[in-house]
Amino acid sequence: MPRPMIVGNWKMNNSLEQALQLVASLKDSLTPNPNAEIVVCPAFPFVIEVSRVLENSSIKIGAQNMHSAQSGAFTGEVSGSMLAGLCEYVILGHSERRSLFGETNRFINIKVVSALDNGLKPILCVGETEQERDSGNASTVVRTQVKSGLADVADITSVTIAYEPIWAIGTGKIPSQEAVHEIISHGIFEVLQEIYPDSYNIPRILYGGSVTPQNVVNFTADPLIDGVLVGGASLDYNLFSQIVALTLEAKAN
Ligand code: PEP
Repeated sequence: MPRPMIVGNWKMNNSLEQALQLVASLKDSLTPNPNAEIVVCPAFPFVIEVSRVLENSSIKIGAQNMHSAQSGAFTGEVSGSMLAGLCEYVILGHSERRSLFGETNRFINIKVVSALDNGLKPILCVGETEQERDSGNASTVVRTQVKSGLADVADITSVTIAYEPIWAIGTGKIPSQEAVHEIISHGIFEVLQEIYPDSYNIPRILYGGSVTPQNVVNFTADPLIDGVLVGGASLDYNLFSQIVALTLEAKAN
C-alpha cells in the first residue's frame, strides 16, 4: 500500500451536480501517482455516480460511515456488505459520529471489525476535545481510542488512523507541530507497537483538522504523518488539489 494519502471528507455537502463536477475536475487534473492514494468520500446517495466518473482513475472512493451489522432492521443505515465493491475505504469513528450520534469506542470497534470482514479499509478517527487537551489528557484519550478501536483486529495492514483533534475540526484552529508529533508518537505510534509488536506494517497515520494549502506542510513534514484528512477544503477543487500537490511534494522529500 503506498503511504502518502490525502482523503477528502465531503460530509453532508454538495449537490449531485456539484459532486460530479468536483470529481471530474480532480480526475482531469491529478496525475496518477502510484506512490500515493487520493480518496474522496461523498455522501451515500452519490457514491455510485461518483464511482462512474472515477472509472479508470487512480482516485479512490470512501464512505463516511457504515453500520456494523450485515443487514437487518436498522432503518436509515448502510452496511459494509452494501458498500463493498463500491468503496475501498470507510471513515469510522469521526468525531461528529462520536459527539452527535453517540458512537462509543466499543461500537466503533465493532464497525472496524465488520469493515475489514467486508474487505473495506477503515480510516479510524481519533482525537481529543479542547477540555481534554487543556487538562493534559490528550495522549491518554487518543491511546484509549486507538486501543479500543482496534480490539480484536489481528491484521492492521489495511487500517489507517486519522488523528483529528476535535477542537481543530472546522474551526480554523490548528495545533502546533510539536503537539501533534507528541500525541501521535505517544497516543498512536507507541500503542500500535505495544499491541502489534511483531507487525512490520504500522498503519498509515493522517492528520485532520482545518487543513488548508497554507498549513498542510506543517503536518506532512512530520515523518510520522503519512497524509491528511481534509473536510471543508476538500469541497473546493483548487484548495484540495493544492493540498494534494503540497502533500506529495513534502512526502517525496
Ligand atoms: C474532518 O471533518 O474530518 C475535518 C478534518 O474537517 P475540516 O478539515 O473542515 O476541519
